[in-house]
This record gives sequence, C-alpha cells and structure tokens, in this order.
Amino acid sequence: MDKKQLDEEVLKRRTFAIISHPDAGKTTITEQMLLFGGVIRQAGTVKGKKSGNFATSDWMEIEKKRGISVTSSVMQFDFDGKRVNILDTPGHEDFSEDTYRTLMAVDAAVMVIDSAKGIEPQTKKLFKVVKQRGIPIFTFMNKLDRDGREPLDLIAELEELLDIEGVAMNWPMGMGKGLKGLYDIYDHRIELYRPENDDQRFIPLNEKTGEIDGDHPLKEDSIYQQTLDEVELLAEAGNTFNLDKIAAGEQTPIYFGSALTNFGVETFLKSFLSMAPAPASHQLQDGEVLAADESEFSGFVFKIQANMNPAHRDRIAFVRICSGEFEKGMTVTLARTGKDLRLNNATEFMSAQREQVSSAVAGDIVGLYDTGNFQIGDSIYSGKQKVEFEKLPQFTPELFVEVTAKNVMKQKSFHKGMQQLVQEGAVQLYKTYATDDYILGAVGQLQFEVFQYRMMHEYNSEVIMKPIGARTARWIDPEQLDPKMSSSRNLLVKDIQGQPLFLFENRFAENWFKDKYPDVKLKSLL
Ligand code: GDP
Repeated sequence: MDKKQLDEEVLKRRTFAIISHPDAGKTTITEQMLLFGGVIRQAGTVKGKKSGNFATSDWMEIEKKRGISVTSSVMQFDFDGKRVNILDTPGHEDFSEDTYRTLMAVDAAVMVIDSAKGIEPQTKKLFKVVKQRGIPIFTFMNKLDRDGREPLDLIAELEELLDIEGVAMNWPMGMGKGLKGLYDIYDHRIELYRPENDDQRFIPLNEKTGEIDGDHPLKEDSIYQQTLDEVELLAEAGNTFNLDKIAAGEQTPIYFGSALTNFGVETFLKSFLSMAPAPASHQLQDGEVLAADESEFSGFVFKIQANMNPAHRDRIAFVRICSGEFEKGMTVTLARTGKDLRLNNATEFMSAQREQVSSAVAGDIVGLYDTGNFQIGDSIYSGKQKVEFEKLPQFTPELFVEVTAKNVMKQKSFHKGMQQLVQEGAVQLYKTYATDDYILGAVGQLQFEVFQYRMMHEYNSEVIMKPIGARTARWIDPEQLDPKMSSSRNLLVKDIQGQPLFLFENRFAENWFKDKYPDVKLKSLL
C-alpha cells in the first residue's frame, strides 16, 4: 500500500489488553465484543475450557491439558471504523512472565472488575505494570445484574488501592433484581435494562438539567430521583473528566454494566475506543523515538510460545508491529545479530481460526513460526537504519525451585537446555552463592511446568524440581554484600549477570533483615 493508505490504516488501529482477576468476566465481555465485531456468531466459543468448543489443531500437549488457547491469545475485529486487536492476559493458573510482557505490546488496557468483589489480587498485580507504562486504562464494573457493592464504595476502593483517579462515565440505576438501567452521564441518555422493545432502550436526557424532558413512566420510579441525587453529588464531589489525564493513565473512566446480559457493553466499547489511542511511538535503545507512521517495517518480539505442534517442534514468536507494513515473505534484519531473515510463515490471529497473514501494520500482532532465531525482546526491521527497541523490563519472580538433572550422566544436555531456555526468557536462573546450585525463578507456576516439559522433550533432559516456595526477591548493591548475611530464611543467590540478591522467606524475614542491616538498600525489579 502507498504511504497515504498506510497512514490511514495505522490510525484505525486500537490495540489493548484486558486485565482482570479470574472469574470477573473477562471471557464473557471479550465474547460480547467479538460478537459486535462479527467475528463469532454465538457466545461460548472463546473459552474451550468451558464449552469444549476448541479448534483441535496443533497445540503443545501441556496446553491442551490445561485448556489454554493459543488462537484466542490475540483477537482481531473491525468495529465502528476501527480495527481492534485484543491481547489476552491469562488467569492465575496460566499466569507467567508472558502475561506481563503482553502488556508491553499494547497501547491501552481494559480492566474488568466484579462489582460484588471489587479490586482483587490479580487485577492489582497486572494494574501495577499497566500503570508503570503510563497507558490509558478503562474500567468496566461488571455483574450489575447481581447485587454488588455500593458504586461509590467501589470507586473509592479503586482509587485507594490502585492509586489512580476514577471518573464515572455512567451510573447504575439499581442493581441485581432492582436493576433498571444506566444513567449515561457522558452521552446524556438513560439506557434501560431489558426494555420491552429495543427501540425504547435509550431515553434522551436534557443536557442542561440532566433530566428526562416530558412524561416518562421511569420518572415515577423512586430509583429515578435517587439516581439524579447521586449523579448531582458525583458532579460536585467526584473527579472532573480529563482527557489528558486519561491519556497519561492518571485517570480511569469507569463504566458499569453486565457482560453476561450484554448490558452496557456496546456503550462501553464505543466510548473507550473513541478515547483509546492509535498505535504509539516507541523508545529506541539509542535514545531516539520511532514514530508509528515511519514507512519502514519494524517490530519486537514480546512472547514466544513453544511447541505448538509437537510434530514440528516449532514455536511462534509474537511480534508487535511498531511501524511500516508487514508482508509475507519479506526480509528483515534481526537487530541483536545483524543477520537477515526471510519471514515466510506468519499467522494472523482471529478468535476461532488461524489464518495466514497477508499484510499487517503498526499496532497489529503477527505470529512468526520460529525455529530458534528469536529471543524475547528481539527487534526486527526492514530499512537500512538499525532499529533496536528499548529492552523489555524484567519482572520480579515470586516462585522458586531448586533444579537438578535426574541423570548425572546427562549434564551436557541439561546445561544446554537450561542455557537456551533461560536466554529465551522462559524462566529466570539464579545460583546459590556458596555452592553454585541452580535455582529457577518465575512469576507463575506454569513457567516451571513448561520448562520441565521442554527440557524433557526438546533437550532429552529429565529435571528434578524441588520447590522452595514463594519468596521475595530483593537485589542489593554488591559493595554492601557480606556473605555472612545469608541464612535459610534469606538465601543469598546471584542472577545471570552475577548480581547478588536475597530470597526472603517472607515479610518477617525481610523486616528482620532491614532492622539488622539498616544501611543495606534492597531493590526489586518491576
Ligand atoms: P474470566 O475468568 O474473567 O474470563 O470470567 P468469565 O467470563 O469466564 O466469567 C466467570 C463467571 O461469571 C461465568 O460463570 C460467567 O457466566 C459469569 N459472569 C460474567 N459476567 C457476568 C455478569 O455480568 N453477570 C453475571 N451474573 N455473571 C457473569
């Protein structure tokens, strides 16, 4: 396509991730969005775990067992003149560093919260990474068809626990069995819950008074007056809607609704897509910034999914396109090695099928079949000018195991597999200071299982993993290190760069250490 076409295409892209605690309704709302986008015709097709409706092609065995979907990890559809890419962030069983890294590849995030539960741990963890990136975040308070907590209470908790301003875009008129509708503050209308006729769904509001002009049966309902009072209170005491703050991730627009009954979802989708940014520019390692409307192709690998087809032992490298146009068969340079690669085999992601990709632009994700060329964080580019994106952050691991080779005669394959998988970013490797024993760190249990599986199947090395449990990892300045500081409660190890850190058994151990060595500074990664 020519430059003008390319620019237009890029401006249409909206790429975001949905974050939530398991069971808050992420799958349900994703499905509703895919229905609006015309990608699926029936709800219940995304999560094979529940519907058994999986395309049964070629995934890694371990994935099949756990029901993790590869095809649904990136979904694309057209809506309201925009091309939308949704990147999945898996729930707690499947949680891994990939989940965090996915947040590096999006331009905005949607946070789904169960209105009966409020902020839950998984949401908080993911939110932290989103906040650190400073990208816009849009909140959907779900399950309004059930009795939940007071809306004001939910917003206050969100602001306090997540340290972000909340601004209500609409306001529930009742909840649970008493749910009547949503008072849409920004579109000046009331959206009725389950109206008898769909053409009665919206009741316009007078923009000045905020009330329904003329007669309407709803005006007789006590919930109407109550909502007007609450909205007035909100206008006086709540935060003022501020687009700049939203763009910077300092304020989150909050929408109420019910994904299951498809109430408020379309309004939410339209509204947040109108505010979500087109593909952003990206920071390069040399200090320059690369704009999304550059004509040469560039992108970075944010995730590598291994062995989706056991017969071929292939893996897919997920690439976020940052500029230009991806074309099948194009030749790119891999920034890390300077080598040229021809990209013959690429996949585009839809919800239910994988299709061969023909062309994709900034904001889109392509999956490249990889035979071992790529590492997480790799940059690729087509122009003469070298493009190397900023390094992806490392995340503080929370789970640790001691690892050894079962067969002492097979040390060579053990070390080779270990080295390659660590380089690829599958797990993090540490060595104990005193004895050089191997310790692996991860943010999710799945990473260990994938590691063990791949060691066995790709490197023919059976490994024994002995859990040492959840630990708090804290790095310290090597100059302040004294090996005597180490004990079983605060194990001293070094990372692959040789930097020392302690693995604290728990908060008590960490506090005890801080009391004992008040001058020693303890640092965490992201
Ligand atoms: P996920 O784990 O975040 O993907 O959550 P799911 O979308 O699988 O939803 C978890 C459960 O909550 C399922 O039983 C859904 O049917 C239910 N659920 C989702 N949204 C709503 C809602 O708006 N109202 C009610 N009552 N249930 C919902």
